[in-house]
Amino acid sequence: MKIAIIGGGASGLACAIELMKTQNIPAKYEVCIFEKNERVGKKLLSTGNGRCNMTNLNATEADYFDAASFVKPAFSKFPPESNIAFFESLGLFSRSDEDGRVYPLSNQASGVLDALRFACVRSGVEFRLSQRVESISKHGEKFVINNQLNFDKVVICAGSNASLKDFNGYGLLRQLSHNITKTAPSLVKLTTCANETKQLKGIRAAAELTLKIGSKTVTKEKGEILFADNVLSGIASMQLSSYISRHFMNNKSFPVVYVDFVPEFNFDDLVRLIGSVVKNIGSEKCENLLLGFMPKKIGEVILKKLGLSLNLPINSLDIKTIKQIASLCKGYAFEINGTAPSSQAQVITGGARLDEFDSKTLESKKVKGLYCCGEILDVDGPCGGYNLQWAWSSARLCANSIIKKSLIDSSHPKKG
Ligand SMILES: Cc1cc2nc3c(=O)[nH]c(=O)nc-3n(C[C@H](O)[C@H](O)[C@H](O)COP(=O)(O)OP(=O)(O)OC[C@H]3O[C@@H](n4cnc5c(N)ncnc54)[C@H](O)[C@@H]3O)c2cc1C
Repeated sequence: MKIAIIGGGASGLACAIELMKTQNIPAKYEVCIFEKNERVGKKLLSTGNGRCNMTNLNATEADYFDAASFVKPAFSKFPPESNIAFFESLGLFSRSDEDGRVYPLSNQASGVLDALRFACVRSGVEFRLSQRVESISKHGEKFVINNQLNFDKVVICAGSNASLKDFNGYGLLRQLSHNITKTAPSLVKLTTCANETKQLKGIRAAAELTLKIGSKTVTKEKGEILFADNVLSGIASMQLSSYISRHFMNNKSFPVVYVDFVPEFNFDDLVRLIGSVVKNIGSEKCENLLLGFMPKKIGEVILKKLGLSLNLPINSLDIKTIKQIASLCKGYAFEINGTAPSSQAQVITGGARLDEFDSKTLESKKVKGLYCCGEILDVDGPCGGYNLQWAWSSARLCANSIIKKSLIDSSHPKKG
């Protein structure tokens, strides 16, 4: 049986390896990976800032926006621990941090890619490098790729246009009569309406972010925030981007991100503590009031927002003003008008419509013998190893369903 895998990224390589594991049982596969780049796994190399956050021990199907029921069969069969064992079988070992994020022991994404690449070579997977698939069609039982090559099955693992400019994966699916949902960048920087962030350019802070749309609190996220011109970035901001991109797909109103710069203290405690600063170092200038709580520059921006002069002596502040300061420290509002473009995103929200695929096999309901796995499907998760977890699990589910089906077919050969 000849199987074409379109895309030599995370899911394509994992799918090929899992398929080739069966070479000593009756079904014999010739697996061929088409990769448009001159080498496989380019995106993998940049994952986790070059360390590759391979999976997350806490990942469950509920973490995948609007896709929990679709993701469930892949997660039931191939949860994070199973993917860690898969890599151990390839000779690659890993460790996890306190948030369940799993990294290779080498801390090198290149090690993850090498483990996958070498396993493919050992098992006889054919690489067709620098071969961009431009067309796929089905003639009878066979698939024709780029108008010439015949395959029995095709697995589309082409990923998405996140971090890329040139992407035709959705077009390939449309050629096979599949539909694509609206798409938008996710795990990406947020852009702000007013450029108050300009004064904070380059400043990082540990904060808690609350995303509100209208009066509704959508989600909260703790972690690092980083400021640039009209931009909020850092992990905590990027985690909010999935919700914000989804909102802008159908709405025009601007969400608001409230930044709590002192999540360690509640409002009353903060008022009391600022009061103690007023008492203890009251002769200092106001510019120094908040430096014990947050980066000095952020403190200055908060005071300026209230129209306070930075040169005033701290002990000139009354309790009403102290409360206003505490309130801004715990909820500085940034109105959000969008996100950075897909070319800067880690993943894409949206993709191949899930109701056109069988979640238990990942086979198309429209075209027999066509499968999809990884990010090309309308599945995305948060930052922290969740998206690669989906890439491995979906790839392995897909490979195993191809194997199962071909074993059934070989024990019931077609008549004639
Ligand atoms: C900067 C960055 C950091 C990230 N860090 C993490 C992280 O640490 N942890 C995590 O879980 N996720 C991370 N992600 C997300 C993760 O990389 C993806 O979700 C994952 O790689 C998706 O796997 P995939 O196999 O679906 O697609 P990809 O890995 O993107 O592979 C798709 C492959 O298909 C090829 N291709 C596309 N079209 C064609 C065609 N027409 N013909 C031939 N070949 C084609 C592409 O060149 C590519 O090699 C990160 C993403 C980025 C951009």
